[in-house]
Amino acid sequence: MEIDRNGQVLELQIYAADAQASIRRWADHVADALTLVYGHWPRDRWRMRVYTIGTADARELDSSRDVIPWAQVNRGTVDTVTFYVLAGASTEQLNANWTGYHELAHLLIPYRGWGDMWFSEGLASYYQNLLQVRAGQLSEQQMWQKLYEGFERGLADTAFDGIPLSRVSRNLRQNGGYMRVYWSGVRYFLDIDHRLRQESGGAQSLDTSLTDLNACCADKSMSVPQMVERLDALTSTTVFSAEYQRYRSSTTLPDYRALFASLGLIILDGKIELADNTPGARLRSGFAIAP
Ligand SMILES: [Zn+2]
Repeated sequence: MEIDRNGQVLELQIYAADAQASIRRWADHVADALTLVYGHWPRDRWRMRVYTIGTADARELDSSRDVIPWAQVNRGTVDTVTFYVLAGASTEQLNANWTGYHELAHLLIPYRGWGDMWFSEGLASYYQNLLQVRAGQLSEQQMWQKLYEGFERGLADTAFDGIPLSRVSRNLRQNGGYMRVYWSGVRYFLDIDHRLRQESGGAQSLDTSLTDLNACCADKSMSVPQMVERLDALTSTTVFSAEYQRYRSSTTLPDYRALFASLGLIILDGKIELADNTPGARLRSGFAIAP
């Protein structure tokens, strides 16, 4: 079926004997979430394919089961995101699963998959959280809690400390190092988003930067160095390329604690508390709101 939103078209293909309705409602939900960055979808035509696997017995689907065990993004003339979901999963279980938001967030940049995996995975991992809070799936506290726990997992994985991020990223599939690579990428984008918002008084953000990149370049195929150069030009800054150089040569995941403190995020016994009435708190609330 085709879903039309203001002239843009999503081809939704559901290959399932049962559960058509619950998958359809979930697909609508995550596709809506994808509009919460620049107000529309990244491409005028794109495709979601959903296959079901496994048993349809809902009793086997307790909260510990990953209801979207596998997914894949293929970038091309028509970007296609393919999901394998457990048959019998409810719309609520699917909505609560991060994979849908993560995979669709890959479409936010015109990256066609060469090199600098830390950059594309960092972007998708960062935005999966922003999309969930903006879609009402997570509270603001829960979103920062997830980012906090992710950075802690990244810091705990010290096996690749001393090796530049660019090399860990290049050898990821052979050697591992997923925590270091993904969470360094998230840290890069949080850093840039924070600086843009702070230095512009909220007029600029990662959202506005990616909106401008989409406007010029949605149908292009760009490497990461090409994207950071263009993002600098679009924002009249050097922050994307300067941080790109700094991060790709970083030999450990940069610590997040000073940045959290400046956003009015207090860490107490492993739990994040949101401080109010600080200069950082007002800046922080902007991350959770669609522009
Ligand atoms: Zn990904």
